[in-house]
Amino acid sequence: MIIEPKKRNIAYRCPECGTSIIGLVGRFALSANLVRLKCSCEDAGALDINITNDKKIRLSVPCLFCKQNHGYTVSEGIFFDSEKFLLNCPYTGMDIAFIGDEEDIKKELKRTEEEIGRLMASLEAEELSDIQPEDMNEDEILPEPAVYDTLRFLVKDLEEEGKVHCPCGKGGYDLRFTDRGIQVYCESCGASYEFTAVTPGAVEEYLYLDEIKLN
Ligand SMILES: [Zn+2]
Ligand SMILES: [Zn+2]
Ligand SMILES: [Zn+2]
Repeated sequence: MIIEPKKRNIAYRCPECGTSIIGLVGRFALSANLVRLKCSCEDAGALDINITNDKKIRLSVPCLFCKQNHGYTVSEGIFFDSEKFLLNCPYTGMDIAFIGDEEDIKKELKRTEEEIGRLMASLEAEELSDIQPEDMNEDEILPEPAVYDTLRFLVKDLEEEGKVHCPCGKGGYDLRFTDRGIQVYCESCGASYEFTAVTPGAVEEYLYLDEIKLN
């Protein structure tokens, strides 16, 4: 039996120029080093991949839609062995990075190119920068993914203990971004609860919640 060194293709789009960047990530290279992919254009940020102490793979991915990096942590198994998987932007829900074999990635790039085209047409945008945020001022800063993660853990914890209540009682709870903050909602009946203080400092007050009632 020949054991092939594990390799994975990963692709994303440069938020500055829109070019698709495709890289190959090997398990050996990754265990030794940080892997960095970067567009050659000026001002381009980088996609960084590294392995954490507990053998998880951490990715920092430039987002075409937010012009900032989003962080993701996945298991090695998912990264190297799953058929393909997509990382999506927590704010817009658009897929921003694709991991899989070369064929899958090409298909995804094509699919999302059409999706971006439709999005731009629907917003009457002529250039990529028309759909990207301007330099944001303090008031407009979106909740950080770290805040989302914190709230997600809180909700999952409470759910496990049976302390998330909703009218239907069936549950299946998930979180999503809204205009005002982050909402936890019931997948069965649609009832919801909104977290509105979603800056890293303010979110701490929610950690004292011992139950959540959706309505
Ligand atoms: Zn670029
Ligand atoms: Zn984004
Ligand atoms: Zn419900």
